[in-house]
Amino acid sequence: MTRLDRFFLFANKVEEALASFAPSTAKCLIHGCGGTLRADGPNNGPVLGGEAGISFTCLECSAKFVAQITDPQGPGVREASVLSISIPTYDNEQIRIVSPGARGRGGVLTAFQLDVTGRLDLFTTEILQKAWLTLPTPRRALIGLCDVSEVTSAGATALGSLCHDARDRMVMLRQADEHETQSSMVPLRIYATVEAALQALGEIPGESRMPSVLSLKDPDS
Ligand SMILES: [Zn+2]
Repeated sequence: MTRLDRFFLFANKVEEALASFAPSTAKCLIHGCGGTLRADGPNNGPVLGGEAGISFTCLECSAKFVAQITDPQGPGVREASVLSISIPTYDNEQIRIVSPGARGRGGVLTAFQLDVTGRLDLFTTEILQKAWLTLPTPRRALIGLCDVSEVTSAGATALGSLCHDARDRMVMLRQADEHETQSSMVPLRIYATVEAALQALGEIPGESRMPSVLSLKDPDS
């Protein structure tokens, strides 16, 4: 019965089998990781408000990449432009890097946006720092705090010192309702609209807007 067992084992892993038909591996781009990305399989559903992509998960840091194949180059290697990267923090909480050109909350993004969902404490600020350091230099980003549930004082202090290179710039964004007191959250100015945040961010050089590119390798290459 070994062969039959094998067959069922195979059938149970149909998703993995499907994934093996997709471009299979790439290198994780998260700062300091360098782990291997494995394709989760073709993802034809709408992601990021209309864009379709292929998703990958890093076997090392569990970051989830959504990317679009941009340049078929024949067998062996293809390239995919990264639309977003989600790095898990706590259960159902994450830091998400959304690339310029992808669709964000306020329409198509013209700068990188780092969205924090859930707690903002010392641990998640360390993850946020990795996400920040993953961006192309000079770094320009909106830090989206719309979905932050709570901020610890250690997290707020760490957030305040995240951007320490004079060539880089980040601005905080929280589209809050008028009853909310914004300044108590973090020791930085928080902008209530994407337009105001972008204006504060100032000119965004072309190299600061370059979405990351994955070099995809087929399983057998
Ligand atoms: Zn990784």
